[in-house]
Amino acid sequence: MQQQKVPTVIIIGAGLGGLTLYHALIKNKDKKEFNVKIFDREFSPQARWQGYHIAINNFGARSLINCIPSSIALNLSKAIPNPVLNVEYHGLSLTDHTGNLLLRPPDKQVKDVFEAANLSVGSSIIITYRDKLRHVLLENVPVQWGKKCISYEETDDGVWILFEDGSKEFCDILVGADGINSPVRKQKLPKLQIFDYGITIIVTDVAAPKNLLDRLITKFNGKGVTQSVGLNGETSVTIFRLIPIEQENYENKNESYYRTTIFFEYPSKLDDVEHDKIKVDDNDPASVVDHVKYMIRKLRPECELTNVILELWDLAVPKTTSDPSKTYNPIRRRKMQDIDPLSVNTWTSNRITLLGDAAHTTSPVLGLGANNAIEDAEVLSRALLNYSSENYISCIKEYENEMRKRNSTEVLKSRFVEIRNTTPVGYIGCLFRNNLLRIINTIMNFFNYNLLARNG
Ligand SMILES: Cc1cc2nc3c(=O)[nH]c(=O)nc-3n(C[C@H](O)[C@H](O)[C@H](O)COP(=O)(O)OP(=O)(O)OC[C@H]3O[C@@H](n4cnc5c(N)ncnc54)[C@H](O)[C@@H]3O)c2cc1C
Repeated sequence: MQQQKVPTVIIIGAGLGGLTLYHALIKNKDKKEFNVKIFDREFSPQARWQGYHIAINNFGARSLINCIPSSIALNLSKAIPNPVLNVEYHGLSLTDHTGNLLLRPPDKQVKDVFEAANLSVGSSIIITYRDKLRHVLLENVPVQWGKKCISYEETDDGVWILFEDGSKEFCDILVGADGINSPVRKQKLPKLQIFDYGITIIVTDVAAPKNLLDRLITKFNGKGVTQSVGLNGETSVTIFRLIPIEQENYENKNESYYRTTIFFEYPSKLDDVEHDKIKVDDNDPASVVDHVKYMIRKLRPECELTNVILELWDLAVPKTTSDPSKTYNPIRRRKMQDIDPLSVNTWTSNRITLLGDAAHTTSPVLGLGANNAIEDAEVLSRALLNYSSENYISCIKEYENEMRKRNSTEVLKSRFVEIRNTTPVGYIGCLFRNNLLRIINTIMNFFNYNLLARNG
């Protein structure tokens, strides 16, 4: 009898989604064996800053644990440390521009990521170090670094992948897990366009002293994810874990410092206003930090919350390095964008598919992007269990139908909330918006039901 050849799956992109898929395909090897290869354009795992905190929710945690081997699950606590009991509250709080509470959805505090994974209602999150999660997921994965995919060619028997260095690879299934600017998506679905919000976002990680976060927590109902919305379409977000980091370099050695992600968003058109033109160069991080502080002073009233936000931005260290092997945090203005995978009618399922941000970049406001990239990996690996050279299209179709529907809902929900938060409202509009949010908050807490979360 002729032996069936082991099919090859190539994953382009070693981000959270691509790496989770790699593990899932290897984990399922006893049920269906694939020759799995994974490529990334970066020259090393540390070549680019992978930082900032992200929120892993119950369905992201569940898919992650289902996909990775137990040896890697044992290391998850390095990236997703257990919440510090009675000290940390992992959830969301939203205030107005002066710190009055608008929304604090009910959530269940969990003891670890495994408990979060067992919850059926999506009202719990664990704040996670994104860079450390990627590091944990890289274990035992033979990523081929420095391989930038530029295009592919489909033949009757498979797919050739072409790399910038002139090399090429052949496979049976190609998975583009290559992020928002995915060349795989651009070739497969040229009509699937990026939606631009007209919002600028600037993100960085800082080491915040305890007294500063204490002010945010006690005076402004701060939770792990603390957000404030303003009158002029600007929002400020702080995401932190209350786990002290090493202090050698910090001013006050007697005080604890916590790694904290801060981001500030505002309508991009404000950058164009003639008299506001202050010198900002995205290749000069120091000028970007000055620009953020200028914007905060311009758009926010003088008050204690504004002071806390400014003090957090004072901590932003605009490092630069010419050494490509060193990771640093490129503080720059970025565009807020998303991709709705149902915004194109024609989506032909074939040997080439997409996963994660490549298919459905999601605005970060509800913390869904990475969770869905990880869930995609689980759904695709499950669909590929039925792979054969005759029915591969139906496997891909089954995955893509589910992936597109689930993610379109999440992208549009996030888009709705993001637009609501970043629409300039002025004083009258602000009264309406804030009162509406307070009513929603009362209803959610009365029924102990988080409307923002996905159930199931
Ligand atoms: C400020 C901010 C906060 C966020 N907060 C949350 C949160 O709280 N919760 C949440 O779930 N999500 C959050 N997200 C979203 C989350 O980070 C992304 O959705 C997630 O990282 C997507 O994973 P991915 O694997 O699809 O893509 P990526 O992480 O973008 O990985 C893509 C990989 O592909 C590689 N690549 C790109 N092009 C090529 C090429 N041509 N050839 C080879 N390799 C290539 C890249 O080097 C990269 O390693 C946030 C995002 C931002 C910006």
